[in-house]
Amino acid sequence: MKMMIAGNWKMNGLAASQGELQNLIDMFSGSTPEGLDILVCPPATLVASFAASYSDEGVMIGGQDCHPEDSGAHTGDISAAMLADAGAAYVIVGHSERRADHGESDALVKAKAEAVLAAGMAPIVCVGETKEEREAGKALDIVGGQLDGSLPQTNDEIVIAYEPVWAIGTGLTPTISDIAEMHDFIRGKTRQDIRILYGGSVKPGNAQEILAVKNVNGALVGGASLKANDLFGIISAAPGNV
Ligand code: PEP
Repeated sequence: MKMMIAGNWKMNGLAASQGELQNLIDMFSGSTPEGLDILVCPPATLVASFAASYSDEGVMIGGQDCHPEDSGAHTGDISAAMLADAGAAYVIVGHSERRADHGESDALVKAKAEAVLAAGMAPIVCVGETKEEREAGKALDIVGGQLDGSLPQTNDEIVIAYEPVWAIGTGLTPTISDIAEMHDFIRGKTRQDIRILYGGSVKPGNAQEILAVKNVNGALVGGASLKANDLFGIISAAPGNV
């Protein structure tokens, strides 16, 4: 299975940030590795310009969220069809920051994922437990419930991102055996061809160890994806590129 390294820029990036992506491509001397998929999800304001500049350079562009409907009276929202029209290939749905900041339920995440599929793209469906849930021994139950509630029934491409909430942006990561346990659990509940990304404080220094875990099919990277150097380090640590 082809690995995916996906960058989530969150609410960061202005037009001038395009230079970071150009720096990344320059680090690969103009041609990114063919053995893995590289995806960058900038803020919605930059999707069209990044896609126009980089989709043919080996870096796919994605959205960070979408509305479940195609169009209508939803001021400030953006639809999957609009992201596809702007050149996006993937859309992150159900990120824990959306689930927490906007009260997004599993049912809403599923509706968004279905909208992404209907628009001809693939959703990256995020799941993950809080610190309290892990400490209470409920991590597998919580993630299992999120998968049951958020994943659309389809034979089309879906990507799952396991992102423990307590590991996002904190510098903390689960143990390698906890990552392996969760990814095996998710694999047991999903199609064999679905990529399962790990996300949560992935850095150049820990990427090699995490990406070597069975059933870890790539990484969703937040903070470290904002700097070309760090993203290059993570991509270079993927099996086959080491
Ligand atoms: C994320 O936001 O999806 C994420 C994994 O963030 P970070 O890498 O900064 O922990």
